Amino acid sequence: MNEVVRNIEGVTRLDAAIIGAGVAGLYQLYQLRNMGMKVRAYDAASDVGGTWYWNRYPGARFDSEAYIYQYLFSEELYKGWSWSERFPGQPEIERWMHYVADSLDLRKDIQLDTRIISARYNEDTRRWLIRTEDGETIDAQFLITCCGMLSAPLSEIFPGQNSFKGRIFHTARWPHEPIELEGKKVGVIGIGATGIQVIQTIADKVGELTVFVRTPQFVLPMKNPKFNESDVKAYKDRFAELKKTLPHTFTGFEYDFLYTWAALTPERRREVLEEIHHNGSLKLWLASFAEMFFDEAVSEEISEFVREKMRARLKDPELCDILIPKDYGFGTHRVPLETNYLEVYHRPNVKAVSVKDNPIVEIVPEGVKTADGVVHELDVIILATGFDAGTGALTRIDIQGRDGRSLKQDWGKDIRTTYGMQVYGYPNLFMTGAPLAPSAALCNMTTCLQQQTEWISDCIRYIRDKGVAVIEPTAELEESWVRHHDETANATLISKTNSWYTGSNVPGKPRRVLSYTGGVGTYRRKCAEVAENGYHGFALTE
Ligand code: NAP
Repeated sequence: MNEVVRNIEGVTRLDAAIIGAGVAGLYQLYQLRNMGMKVRAYDAASDVGGTWYWNRYPGARFDSEAYIYQYLFSEELYKGWSWSERFPGQPEIERWMHYVADSLDLRKDIQLDTRIISARYNEDTRRWLIRTEDGETIDAQFLITCCGMLSAPLSEIFPGQNSFKGRIFHTARWPHEPIELEGKKVGVIGIGATGIQVIQTIADKVGELTVFVRTPQFVLPMKNPKFNESDVKAYKDRFAELKKTLPHTFTGFEYDFLYTWAALTPERRREVLEEIHHNGSLKLWLASFAEMFFDEAVSEEISEFVREKMRARLKDPELCDILIPKDYGFGTHRVPLETNYLEVYHRPNVKAVSVKDNPIVEIVPEGVKTADGVVHELDVIILATGFDAGTGALTRIDIQGRDGRSLKQDWGKDIRTTYGMQVYGYPNLFMTGAPLAPSAALCNMTTCLQQQTEWISDCIRYIRDKGVAVIEPTAELEESWVRHHDETANATLISKTNSWYTGSNVPGKPRRVLSYTGGVGTYRRKCAEVAENGYHGFALTE
């Protein structure tokens, strides 16, 4: 039905081009195709799955419960897949993404192994001219980026990386073939959510493991029971309830902030913290006391509770010193779930090297060199060094809007969007998982990406029905969204902590809390209001 049409110059002409075939891209494609549009999704990967295609490092798994990391638009799709455990691993998640693509018959409209390198808005035709790395040209009325919040890996960060004699991998570019780690001297740089999953998974398989720790992490133990038939039936039976509640909670998870710190006695607070900690999920972070994000004293008390839990497991004072955070509050950047991660450091083959005051200065042929001149000899280096979040996926494409403005240059000065879905100066460009909307920070991604793609589809349907050719936010609307976003974010302690949440992990990146912190439900309401008001504040051109 949606066959590709190239004109005589070999240009592919579409109503909409989607970049990315992950969680957002697949659903966006499905929706626009159902609207009768000529639409195609492009992905640099060799298969669908987005983040779950790329992040195939050892130990990669969910830390949203599988039964909420789901599409909720189709009961049949939801119920047609059965998860094996509460927090499944990457291979199972990737199979689920294939199930989605196949069930919805999406593959015929997805072009894999195709990297989009540029997109220019042509003011005469009022369309986007998009180019692929292989030289293909696509001409589309709408450009929709579904590139992922965390998809631009920071993989070239140390001088001398090319000189290393062994093998070096960034976790988000982990090879498809098995990597032999047995008996090897392996170094892991980074202890974010990714590094932690790698470390706890490979520690008992490698010869020696050296973990380079810069900023210590608060961690929460994961409880990951296997699901039997009745567990699966039980969560499937909750489909209607989850569909109703998830879109409106603060973080798009099934749980919400239930307690008020000030209203409880110290004893009751402790009981609540213990109870929630015992749940083995992100609940302590996303559904305990919202005051932890605003009130330094509450933040400190909850941080101390988590430190205490970590100390009880680590025992060794030196390890406690290296691995337990002291100078930022619990939950002010991403809290990873883990399984025996701390215990790993008690193994005789595992060593934690603090690189906080003794940074890594370069990679040398033999391994990692720190400022004190020590060379940590290694066979394999694993870079769990994170991503240029939110902006990186788009600034790595040469996107030019009206008057030749460049998104890379614009965001190099100031990261601004309208509701995280459009940018002033870039007509008919829609984005998902982009800055200034709820996303991986404080949001279950599938909840947020479904809402965004649905809003985009509704917007496109509206303007097509009205005979409007172009939509672009006004500068005033963008300014008001940025102001609201900043006021909300800057009232939280998140804005004071260094991490990818504020862009501080990328040298030179303008500092701004990248994710909207006003809540998933609130964001949804605000987006819905804009639509209900006929996209007031957007310039619509026939
Ligand atoms: P990350 O949280 O940004 O962590 C990067 C790590 O690398 C940090 O420990 C950082 O230390 C370290 N690092 C970077 N440059 C360094 C240097 N020059 N020297 C020493 N250490 C350095 O990245 P991530 O772990 O890949 O996680 C990113 C996000 O992906 C997560 O926050 C989460 O949202 C998502 N994720 C989700 C899952 C899941 O849901 N299951 C799993 C993995 C990741 P500093 O902190 O000192 O900068």
